[in-house]
Amino acid sequence: MARDNAFNFSAGPSVMPLPALESARDQLPDYMGSGVSVMEMSHRSKQFQEIFDSTKLKLRTLMQVPETHDILFLQGGATLQFAAIPMNLLEGGCADYAITGNFSKKAAQEAEKYGSVHIACDSSPTGHDRIPSQEELDCTEVAKYFYYCANNTVYGTEWQYVPRVSAPLVCDMSSDILSYPVDVSRFGLIYAGAQKNMAPAGLTVVIVDKSLLGREMAITPQVMSYKILSEHDSMLNTPPCWCIYMLGLTLDWVRAQGGVEAMDALRRERAALLYDFLDNSRLFKAHALPGSRSFMNVTFSTGNSDLDAEFVKASSARGFLNLKGHKVAGGMRASIYNAMPVEGVKKLVNYMKEFELSHV
Ligand SMILES: *Cc1c(COP(=O)(O)O)cnc(C)c1O
Repeated sequence: MARDNAFNFSAGPSVMPLPALESARDQLPDYMGSGVSVMEMSHRSKQFQEIFDSTKLKLRTLMQVPETHDILFLQGGATLQFAAIPMNLLEGGCADYAITGNFSKKAAQEAEKYGSVHIACDSSPTGHDRIPSQEELDCTEVAKYFYYCANNTVYGTEWQYVPRVSAPLVCDMSSDILSYPVDVSRFGLIYAGAQKNMAPAGLTVVIVDKSLLGREMAITPQVMSYKILSEHDSMLNTPPCWCIYMLGLTLDWVRAQGGVEAMDALRRERAALLYDFLDNSRLFKAHALPGSRSFMNVTFSTGNSDLDAEFVKASSARGFLNLKGHKVAGGMRASIYNAMPVEGVKKLVNYMKEFELSHV
């Protein structure tokens, strides 16, 4: 199937902006007349340092990251941060965790190895179909930080507010970073695996309040210490060079589209097309409750797993790729990240209407 006929709804790694891929293709064997590919450059070279610095600056500008916060470009995925966060911030204390999906649950389980974890809320009794309200959050006064996952990639729910808590906020934004404006100054730490909405797999972006640096446990590996990583400007060891370069190209595209405000308008448009259809469908039903619904991962099903499988197969043959839901949630999931054109969602909805007509 040619790319022209395909829309990729993969949850991650996922669709990237075509102009970013095209620039990478053009520069692949010879970056700007340097005689080498970005893949072949020393990370200590002047040329790579320029790529690194400009990418960091582009991210700082687009997200309006204040100078109080450092930006780190790391490896290990979001999952490494499940351990790095408690190792750096939990020493001898307790942290509050909001459990609203499988990734926040995994993060809490990892943190329990390093200190005590208090569950501030847990949406598992209702199948993670909702985000708790501010009033429902049960926070402890002594918490070293409050942890939550802004967008639950698997279940398709998303926090529509930033929790008001006294402890520093730590947030997993892997699947919704750069899709709406964020007041970074309110957060102690924001992190995101890049492969959902920014770059290829292999890069994790960490944005950390510098006043939180230097609290790591003695056992923390150097390569996981935010203080040491920040002191070395993410170059304690070889950073994920190619992914950082690709992130720069994605950020150029985001800026050309009008920045995070434009991304926010587009994500609302894409999500509304799908949820409006689902709420009026006689075949498909959305999983997440109104008010908690993700703008990035729309989860739904027919209620019949055989019919779900038939839909996934038939839609794939028509170019709507990777609509199968995560194994723990079942059903379908349309991941509609920044780089998904609105046209792709319109065509998907039209196809779902067609499928519905022939199945009810
Ligand atoms: C994908 C994802 C993760 C896991 O990311 P890895 O980079 O594979 O470790 C964690 N949190 C969220 C919200 C995700 O979407």
